[in-house]
Amino acid sequence: MLRNDQLAEWDRESFFHPSTHLAQFARGEAANRILTGGKGAHIEDRDGIKLLDGFAGLYCVNVGYGREEIAEAIAKQAKELAYYHSYVGHGTEASITLSKMILDRAPAAMSKVYFGLGGSDANETNIKLVWHYNNILGRPEKKKIISRWRGYHGSGLMTGSLTGLHLYHKKFDLPFEQVKHTEAPYYYHRPDLSMGEEEFSAFCAEKLEEMILAEGPETVAAFIGEPVLGTGGIVPPPEGYWSAIQAVLDKYDILLIADEVVTGFGRLGTMFGSDHYGMKPDIITIAKGLTSAYAPLSGSIIGDKVWEGLMRGSDESGPIGHGWTYSAHPIGAAAGVANLELIDKLGLVENAGTVGKTLNRLMNEAIGDHPHVGDIRGEGMLCAVEFVEDRANRTFFDASKKTGPAVAAALLKRGVIGRAMPQGDILGFAPPLCLTEDEAKTIVDATAEAVKEVLG
Ligand code: PMP
Repeated sequence: MLRNDQLAEWDRESFFHPSTHLAQFARGEAANRILTGGKGAHIEDRDGIKLLDGFAGLYCVNVGYGREEIAEAIAKQAKELAYYHSYVGHGTEASITLSKMILDRAPAAMSKVYFGLGGSDANETNIKLVWHYNNILGRPEKKKIISRWRGYHGSGLMTGSLTGLHLYHKKFDLPFEQVKHTEAPYYYHRPDLSMGEEEFSAFCAEKLEEMILAEGPETVAAFIGEPVLGTGGIVPPPEGYWSAIQAVLDKYDILLIADEVVTGFGRLGTMFGSDHYGMKPDIITIAKGLTSAYAPLSGSIIGDKVWEGLMRGSDESGPIGHGWTYSAHPIGAAAGVANLELIDKLGLVENAGTVGKTLNRLMNEAIGDHPHVGDIRGEGMLCAVEFVEDRANRTFFDASKKTGPAVAAALLKRGVIGRAMPQGDILGFAPPLCLTEDEAKTIVDATAEAVKEVLG
C-alpha cells in the first residue's frame, strides 16, 4: 500500500480538483483528505479519522454509505454486461425497470425519462428539449430561460449560465445572453424587513412578471428553479411562492423546469419537492438521490405536454439529435433500481421528514437565541444556519472575515462535516436520509460548540 505522504504528493502534483483554490492547494495550504470507507452517515479517511457526514457528500449519498445491496447490484450488472448504449432502441432490464420506477414515483402528468450522467448534463438536455419543442411549435423566437439569483443548476456552459452565483460566471464569460436571472425567494434577505412571507412571494412573482413583459413573453421559453434553493444557501421558499410563480408562468405560456437534483427521492420528506409545494412542472431534473451517488446517473423526466410536442414534430424532424455515450449506463441504472428499492424498504422518505424535523428543532433550541445567528431554516433533511454581525438590524459580516468557513472548520475539528455555503456566512446541513435521532443530536451539539468557539 502506498504511504500517505507519497499519495499526498502525487495528489498535489497531478490531480486537478474541482472547486478548489489552485494556488493554495499547490502550496500545501489547503489540506488533502483521502477517503477510504464509510458506513451509514459516517466516512473514514486514511488516517483513521471518522467523521459524521452532515452533508451526505454533496447532498447525494441519501441512503448512507456502505450499502451492500447497491454494491451487489452494481457488481452483478458489471459481470453480466457492464455497458451497452441506449441509442436507437437499445436498453437493459435495469434501464427499462428504472424508467418505470421513476415514473411510478413522479408527480402526475409525467411521460418519459431521458437519462444522463449528472445534474449539469440533465439540465443541458432540458434546455435543448425546450428549444426543440418551441421550434416544433413554430415559435423559434421563444427561447429565453429565466432562472433565479442564487439558483444552482450546474457547471456547464448553459447550466453555469443558469446558475445564479457570481463565482460561476465572471471567470468564464457567462452567463449566455439567452439566460436572465430574477429575484431569489430568499425571505431572510427580503429588501424590506416589514414584508410578510406572502407579501414577499407576491413581490417575487411581480418581479418575474416585469421581467417577462420587459423581455417580451413571446421570447421567454421556460423558468427553472429548485423547489428549495440549495447551493445558493439552503433556502425554503416563503409561503405561497410557488403558486404565485406558477400563475405568472401559466399566464404567459412559459414552461416550468423543476430542478430536483437535491430534492428528488425524499430529501424534503416527500418523494419530490414538486409534491411538497404543489408545483406543476413540465420537466423535472433528477440526479444525486437517484442512485445515492453509488454510480453517476441523472435524468430528465419529461411531462406530457412537452412529450406530445416532441412526438408531433418527430416524423418531420427525424431522430432526436441528442445523446450521450453513457445515457442510461447499465451500472448506473442497476444502482438506481437497488437504491430506490432500498429507500422504500427502509422508509427513508418518512425518516427524512421526522429526523429532519428533529434536526431543525434541536438546532433552534441550541443556538436560535445566539446574538450572531440571524436565521435557522430548513425543510425535511435540510438545515441551514446563517450568521450575522448584528441580529437586530440584520447586518452581515464582512465576507473577508470568512465567518461561515471558520465555523465549518471548528465543526470539522469536532468530527462533523457541515458545508460553508459558497455565498454568505451560511453553514449548511443535508445529511443522509438514514440519519438517526442520536446523530441529529450529535450534529447540533457539535455545531453549538463550534459556534461558541468562533463567535462566543
Ligand atoms: N442542479 C442542482 C439543484 C444541484 O444541486 C446540482 C449539483 N449540486 C446540479 C444541478 C448539478 O449537478 P452535477 O454536479 O451532478 O452536474
